[in-house]
Amino acid sequence: MRTPILAGNWKMYKTIREAVEFVKQLPTDNPAEGVEQVICAPFTALPALSERLRGSAYRLGAQNVHFAEEGAYTGEVSPVMLKELGVSYVIVGHSERRQYFNETDESVNQKVKAALKHGLTPIVCVGESLAERDAGRTGEVVRRQTKAALAGIPAEEAKQLVIAYEPIWAIGTGRSSSAEEANQTISQIRRVVAECAGEAAAQAIRIQYGGSVKPENIGSFLRFPDIDGALVGGASLKADSYLQLVQGVLAARR
Ligand code: PGA
Repeated sequence: MRTPILAGNWKMYKTIREAVEFVKQLPTDNPAEGVEQVICAPFTALPALSERLRGSAYRLGAQNVHFAEEGAYTGEVSPVMLKELGVSYVIVGHSERRQYFNETDESVNQKVKAALKHGLTPIVCVGESLAERDAGRTGEVVRRQTKAALAGIPAEEAKQLVIAYEPIWAIGTGRSSSAEEANQTISQIRRVVAECAGEAAAQAIRIQYGGSVKPENIGSFLRFPDIDGALVGGASLKADSYLQLVQGVLAARR
């Protein structure tokens, strides 16, 4: 059985003080069992959160990583540096990074390999634009992105990955994909994983949905056994909403 994973993607929100305020509101003594809870915070907030969440069941994630261990890459942060901070997850290839920071299928693949090499679990984002969706190209786009992300990764390692299917037109727009459509595309992604890394990896890998997920609609996605959780932006920024999302996952899986 795959454990569902709820990851908050804070994007470029929250100062250190605001991040600490958030975690103070989490029940650290007894976090919900049956759902893995991840907070992907800005780099600057990671040290303070790492200290606060040490020993708890909450996992910390970064939102980007460079593929080199060190080097003359001004402004970048390496997987070794994240690991040292106690980070467990890293979002790779978010559509905002593909769109605004020129990330490509190739650089995403390099980052996935670097993350795995250093014991970080990549949350690889794939998803089509509105124009691609309207042209009926969703399947083709997620196939290309998934294959590229997995290129050269041994099946044993591929198993550890998390993939987030995030249709770009649904991100931050309040317009989510229908759960049925998301489930269909996620099943397609799982088939691509089977082709690339074998059936065992496809069954083990967790595939989340992301794009305007809220406490009110998370249950509709998690009803589908192929949807292994959610990557949530806006609705993960307030602790009460984040905790409701966690409860939503649990309720759907009961
Ligand atoms: P959203 O963002 O939940 O605000 O739509 C999701 C994401 O970008 O990961």
